[in-house]
Amino acid sequence: MTPEQERRFSKDLLAWYATARRSLPWRRTRDPYRILVSEFLLQQTRVETAEAYYRRFVRRFPSLQALAEAPQESVLQVWQGLGYYGRGRNLHRAAQTIRDRFQGRIPSDPETLGKLPGIGPYTAAAVASIAFQRDVFTIDGNVKRVLSRLFAMRTSPELPEVRKRMGKIGLRLLPRGKAGEFNQALMELGALVCKPGRPDCDHCPVERSCKAREKGLTERLPVRIPRGRVPVRRRVVGAIRNRGRLLFVRRPPEGLLGGLWELPGCNLEDGENTEQGLGRLCASLDQDVVLQPPQPAQPHLLVRHTYSHFQELLLVFLLAGIRRGPEGARGRREPLGRWYHPTNMGEHPVTRATGKILEEIAGRSGPRRIRR
Ligand code: SF4
Repeated sequence: MTPEQERRFSKDLLAWYATARRSLPWRRTRDPYRILVSEFLLQQTRVETAEAYYRRFVRRFPSLQALAEAPQESVLQVWQGLGYYGRGRNLHRAAQTIRDRFQGRIPSDPETLGKLPGIGPYTAAAVASIAFQRDVFTIDGNVKRVLSRLFAMRTSPELPEVRKRMGKIGLRLLPRGKAGEFNQALMELGALVCKPGRPDCDHCPVERSCKAREKGLTERLPVRIPRGRVPVRRRVVGAIRNRGRLLFVRRPPEGLLGGLWELPGCNLEDGENTEQGLGRLCASLDQDVVLQPPQPAQPHLLVRHTYSHFQELLLVFLLAGIRRGPEGARGRREPLGRWYHPTNMGEHPVTRATGKILEEIAGRSGPRRIRR
């Protein structure tokens, strides 16, 4: 594009955004804390889902101070069901760092922001531009798709060199002093008009600037890199009951789903069958358990759960637990788990896969149902 075309593109885009944008709660505030919360929630989450969580989150933690002071478990409880719990833990830690190192004021500079827990280049640029109008350009999945089409790029936007080129293009297109609006407008165009699959070019405000439209390439771009097969892990899970309660264990505080509660389980190793896995699981517990019904050792329920980089097949067994005192069956000082009524976990957040299992157990219509 010539400088004149670039100016025309930005003008068309901003004029469209002024009237067509969705009314979202984080777009009606200038409060950097609320914008920070929204950017954490929007990572890998659809806007509609993020909106409901945003409202709940800021009602529960209305300020950075309130969030920083809250126990981690309360934060995870509000985050429950959203997935990617590392984001919730990182947002909590970022709030504590800002309270302790920046006197509670969110830094405006993208480099400083990028050093806070859970804030990568995208989130740093988004917060700096939207909350502080810093002239930085943001690139998310929507922006990659729009730019790939606008400039008819024949290489995948996932390649680092293409991303770098997009960064340079974005800085040229960005009208100075309006970075927040411009970045959001480009993302909104990708979400509402220049969608994956079939873009709605007939209603596109920047159609006259689009090279893919001119060349008839709109549905063939962006170029995709074929993905490999997602590995499947098998996990034996025990739904261990005692007088209407189930035994729950808490995951270690760090790592995948850290700090959340789930039913006890163990991953099957290569060559291990479910019966062996079940034996290993029972041996690892500090409760005496028996299968329900006792034979054969078939899973009562199969639940499939997909994470970003693998899939888990959960083989759920119903077991009866013999509840022990605080020392557990094997004389441990600390019991490994706690007994809760599955519909009354109080403040304790459970993993999404556990939520699926609990729903299925509550509304079960027969054995070996598969839930995806
Ligand atoms: Fe996307 Fe079509 Fe607009 Fe080009 S003209 S930016 S392909 S919606």
